[in-house]
Amino acid sequence: MSEKQPVYILSDDSQRTIGRDAQRNNIMAAKLVAETVRTTLGPKGMDKMLVDSLNNVVITNDGVTILEEMAIEHPTAKMIVEVAKTQEKEVGDGTTTAVVLAGELLKNAEVLLDKKIHPTIITKGYRLAAEKAQEILAQIAEDITIEDEELLRCIAETAMTGKGVESAKEKIAKLCIEAMKQVQSEEKTELEDIKIEKQVGAGISDSELIRGIVLDKERTHSEMPKKIENAKIALIDAPLEIKDTEIDAKIQITDPTQLQSFLDQEELMLKRMVDKIVSSGANAVFCQKGIDDIAQYFLAKSKIYAVRRVKESDMKKLAKATGSRIISNLKELKAEDLGKAGSIEEKKIGDENMTFVTKCENPKAVTLLIRGSTEHVVDEVERAVKDALGDINAALKVGKIVAGAGAPEMEVAKGLREYANSLSGREQLGVLAFAESLEIIPKTLAENAGLDPIDILTEMKAKHDNGEKWAGVDVFEGEIVDSWKQGVIEPLKVKTQAIKSASEVAELILRIDDIIASSSTKNSNQNMPNPEMM
Ligand code: ADP
Ligand code: MG
Repeated sequence: MSEKQPVYILSDDSQRTIGRDAQRNNIMAAKLVAETVRTTLGPKGMDKMLVDSLNNVVITNDGVTILEEMAIEHPTAKMIVEVAKTQEKEVGDGTTTAVVLAGELLKNAEVLLDKKIHPTIITKGYRLAAEKAQEILAQIAEDITIEDEELLRCIAETAMTGKGVESAKEKIAKLCIEAMKQVQSEEKTELEDIKIEKQVGAGISDSELIRGIVLDKERTHSEMPKKIENAKIALIDAPLEIKDTEIDAKIQITDPTQLQSFLDQEELMLKRMVDKIVSSGANAVFCQKGIDDIAQYFLAKSKIYAVRRVKESDMKKLAKATGSRIISNLKELKAEDLGKAGSIEEKKIGDENMTFVTKCENPKAVTLLIRGSTEHVVDEVERAVKDALGDINAALKVGKIVAGAGAPEMEVAKGLREYANSLSGREQLGVLAFAESLEIIPKTLAENAGLDPIDILTEMKAKHDNGEKWAGVDVFEGEIVDSWKQGVIEPLKVKTQAIKSASEVAELILRIDDIIASSSTKNSNQNMPNPEMM
């Protein structure tokens, strides 16, 4: 028992980073992700053009879209991307804000780490600050209901400012609010009840709200009527075919008359199916499965408009819009299962034939038909519409809103500084760092608008100290204004969620002091987001 043998617990090619190096590496990755999307924040933010390996191009200003398209590999950077995804899922807007805030929280934590403040003290301060921030936000927020149409319009327009829809912002905002009001019911609103259908061609301002459902499908047979007035609609989720793919039966036919009688038999069965539909009184059929050619022929002969292979989600929306019941067994189809629509029509939009189920009476599902000159435009309009709908929905669900333009962040920072004074321990430093991190939002809004961030922040602080809680940046005039009066309104939820997820991820990352990468992930450990993409 003389010399000590070294003990290996990891494989040779694992890579380990410990202590400050691990923290530095992680913080660097998070900062890089935040830095990437920072320039897109706010109405004056720039867009990014992302090109994937197949040369597909996406042009966008939307935080989560950028991060998803970037194919980030660094594990910590991925955690920041998750923040954006959570924000997208929970609210649908505020993704850039959440990521930028997370990056700044970590950046300011690093300053404290350099001063030899222990990570657990910083995370404790951050946790206290995040809780206090929620309290302050709840205090400053104002109420909203579906009746406050003017405020809803402000919310929708704020969500879309600086996006590709700028030119038709008012029109699109109006459509979003109308759509929301239409599908609103006592219990809850489901954004799913608003179908977004995109069509290239015409301009953004030709987008419209359809009181019903638009499907990118044509009628199955050219002899069917192109248009039906006072439609009575059957929704069937069983095939109008007799093929049974599960049983592979062989039929032995010994003479030609047998074949004929077999075919006659099949035809008869299909005819019966169609007769069943006719006798229910339906003049339109939407089938989730296939429709046999012969059945199509009989349907056409009976002047019935039929569409096949309709998506399940669209079947549900059709049911909500027209008041029909989805039938799985054709034998059960009755007149009272049918839904109604003022009109069903096949229209050519761009190069595609689409089915318009419109003039529904009080539909509980509607369609926003988005138009735009190119695919890139309609895609970006769609993202903007989703932000607007998400924000309206979030505002109505919680019933609380705040002004934007950096005002709430500044007000919370002010409150946190007061709160920090009431603390005695060193976590005070964490709370102060948190407060400073929040200022990144007004600061970035100013920078992206080409304004001097120091002047803007100083003036803004003075106004907040003076009790002007909604003092925010007017990025167009370069002044500090009352952002509420300017109509820059956002749902409270965007702010609470962004602070919640940003602080959670920052705490999580700060607690890591050891990175053990196995050989397969070791390489990606070094991979910062590809500089070419930035
Ligand atoms: P995010 O992905 O975080 O929603 P955006 O690019 O949509 O990023 O920018 C949102 C920020 O822009 C918010 O802080 C919001 O208050 C601010 N903002 C929106 N409209 C205006 C406006 N008209 N003037 C000043 N700030 C605005
Ligand atoms: Mg936004």
